[in-house]
Amino acid sequence: MQTNQQLFKVQVINRHRLLTDGEGVTTLIGLAGCPLKCKYCINMDILGKQKYRPMSAQELLDKVMIDYCYFLTTGGGLMFGGGESLLHGEAILEFLKIRPMGMKVYMETSMNYESPVLDEVLEKVDYFLIDVKSLDDAIYEQYTGLSSVVMKKNLQRICEKGLQNKCRIRIPIIPGYKTEEQANQEAEIIKTMGFSDVEVFSYILRDYMHVGDLTSAGLVEKTEQQETPVEDEENYTLEEGC
Ligand code: SF4
Repeated sequence: MQTNQQLFKVQVINRHRLLTDGEGVTTLIGLAGCPLKCKYCINMDILGKQKYRPMSAQELLDKVMIDYCYFLTTGGGLMFGGGESLLHGEAILEFLKIRPMGMKVYMETSMNYESPVLDEVLEKVDYFLIDVKSLDDAIYEQYTGLSSVVMKKNLQRICEKGLQNKCRIRIPIIPGYKTEEQANQEAEIIKTMGFSDVEVFSYILRDYMHVGDLTSAGLVEKTEQQETPVEDEENYTLEEGC
């Protein structure tokens, strides 16, 4: 019997993604929980439900192996996203111990979480997509509801370890919060830190979203306490793809 096993909280498994998460065909593993409350969160409908399936690293591996041949032939693998994947650092490390040869492991993260296993995660995960939201403290706090201090500390840690080459830093233009000019200025600052893969992009608002207005977007306030494991597995579909 295994003890102290770290379980993933899996909300969604999205298969057969091509060139959206990195190299080759990937499977997105959407994980529950996020410390931020971004005003235009596109995952809020999923996060708001707060339903997840607890899953061990071995159970997850058994599920994703169905696409192993795609990973091998295209150089793809798994993308852990969310929510905030860094909340699941311990479980990801367990998964890395058992992943088969040739299956890449990527993480999509805001880096705004003080993970006790950050160093190990930084060293062992193959690639990171990091959405820094903003380098401006006031904008960051207005947009996410949280301070940027931890995110910046973690970026600094990546630099200290000389791991900038396994990161893509994504810098959004945020309607109502941050202009293209500000985003480009932030990109220049990030480059001086030694990151070469830097992408400026624009958040696309959905029809129901209004610039700068969380309430009218009809988004759901979320708390950790609302999270519930799914017991009725029959009626809860994790997988998309065929
Ligand atoms: S980081 Fe922001 S956009 Fe991403 S899941 Fe969390 S609240 Fe949503």
